[in-house]
Amino acid sequence: MQISPTISASSSSRYLHHFNDPTPHSISQRPPPSPFSPPLPAVQFAIRNLSLKQQLSRVHAVKGSGFFSAIGRAIEEEEYRKARSEVLRKGYELEGYSIEGISIGGHETCVIIPELKAAFDIGRCPLRAVHQNFVFITHGHLDHIGGLPMYVATRALYSLKPPTVFVPPCIKEDIERLFDIHRSMGQVELNFDLVALDIGETHELRNDLVVRPFRTHHVIQSQGYIVYSIRKKLKKQYIHLNGKQIEKLKKSGVEITDMILSPEIAFTGDTTSDFMLEPRNADALRAKLLIMEATFLDDGFSIEDARQRGHTHLFESYACASEPCSGLPDQESEYRLYLIGNAHWIRNKAVLLTHFSSRYHLEDIRKAVSKLQAKVSAKVVPLTEGFRSTYS
Ligand SMILES: [Zn+2]
Ligand SMILES: [Zn+2]
Repeated sequence: MQISPTISASSSSRYLHHFNDPTPHSISQRPPPSPFSPPLPAVQFAIRNLSLKQQLSRVHAVKGSGFFSAIGRAIEEEEYRKARSEVLRKGYELEGYSIEGISIGGHETCVIIPELKAAFDIGRCPLRAVHQNFVFITHGHLDHIGGLPMYVATRALYSLKPPTVFVPPCIKEDIERLFDIHRSMGQVELNFDLVALDIGETHELRNDLVVRPFRTHHVIQSQGYIVYSIRKKLKKQYIHLNGKQIEKLKKSGVEITDMILSPEIAFTGDTTSDFMLEPRNADALRAKLLIMEATFLDDGFSIEDARQRGHTHLFESYACASEPCSGLPDQESEYRLYLIGNAHWIRNKAVLLTHFSSRYHLEDIRKAVSKLQAKVSAKVVPLTEGFRSTYS
């Protein structure tokens, strides 16, 4: 798809250079920091450190030679580019996946997994998300879907292929209408594949990956997604055969393998913790990595309030787990961490907690997560991009 006759070639090529072009930028031409950028001094410090060893010898080597000076500058800029990308790279390595993104309750959620070429929800449109081919939308709240038109438009601007966007069937028509309004309002083409994928349905992403939605519980209709890896295994009845016999069977058209699906990543979006109690959601709790919301995490906000808003409270009393409660115990010791109560359900190797309320500071989040980590065998990590420290 080609986009926007309203965007001039020159402005579009400048934009492309900014984000896609592997050509090193000189420090003076450095593009503005991304939303994930640390303060600039950190970059400059890394540059100074990295190039320090080679600077002296290079000064001698290139002296008096314009050609070699140019090479020297090019090498330095390459060093700068590498150091910059190292410093700017914020994210998490969990179970073989590198995870980036931002998730602040009510503001924006977008969790990016480059290995899957996927972003889960797109409340705004982080630049990193633009390079992902798939987006999985959990529900229609703006902090999860607000960036979708910009995502589709920006991919076209970069001449990237139209993406595939997965949505709950109940919002498909609304999304089509929304894009029609943008097409009419901006006189632009906005091409993408919109796939309404219902709970229990399966869609192939690659020949070794499929995705399936699962039921979650929010104030509007919502669903999570599980990405499965696929591996083929020889059927039991053929295990005794030798290579030639297996080859012969295969050539005759007999299906000799079973497909084994392994849940890799589960993403909940907004939900109460009730999603954990559904037997059909068992795969979400045995995926290698569970990415789940934990909007509230202290007693400044009641569990019942959290449930009424369709969110998970990290601390829930035993009484509240089975029936709605009107009040909270006075002492923190009377609380349990909700996940502990359901620890026997959890088989995940790692849990990434997201969607904390913006009322919390980094320190509040880390304190709550450390209490949880002490009780849960899975590695628990909070996604804290964008949260402020009490001390800043
Ligand atoms: Zn939300
Ligand atoms: Zn929501």
